[in-house]
Amino acid sequence: MTTPKQTVCEVCHERLATHFVCNANTGKSSHFCDECFETSASAEDRRRSAELRAAHCQYCGAPATIGTMDHLATFTGEQRTMFLCYACSAEFNDYTMLALNRMPHGLSEQEQLEANQQLRQDAEKHMKQWVSERGSQ
Ligand SMILES: [Zn+2]
Ligand SMILES: [Zn+2]
Repeated sequence: MTTPKQTVCEVCHERLATHFVCNANTGKSSHFCDECFETSASAEDRRRSAELRAAHCQYCGAPATIGTMDHLATFTGEQRTMFLCYACSAEFNDYTMLALNRMPHGLSEQEQLEANQQLRQDAEKHMKQWVSERGSQ
């Protein structure tokens, strides 16, 4: 399991970020400290940050710290935002990256789609098991 590292504000590069904003359309995420959030964040950023603050991790139910685009869902044409806590997002990323690396090359589009759907199911199963083994925080 990866230990989450503290993220520094992307505007001042000094204070720790307390606002995390992910644009589900571009996949780009932004990190602001309180002060820079007040001065630099767009209305859209504010809306997303508020949405994130109200959200809970979809796997363990802890307060969500990351709203990220579900990159597995994009293969199937869905646009879905996943809300995750740090620990679950690190585990989810590790798991899916490893699985994607293991995927054979030269698959047809149809095979790729099926492989991704399978991976998605495997990842869900893995996360549920991982969370139950980890116990609640
Ligand atoms: Zn700042
Ligand atoms: Zn979690």
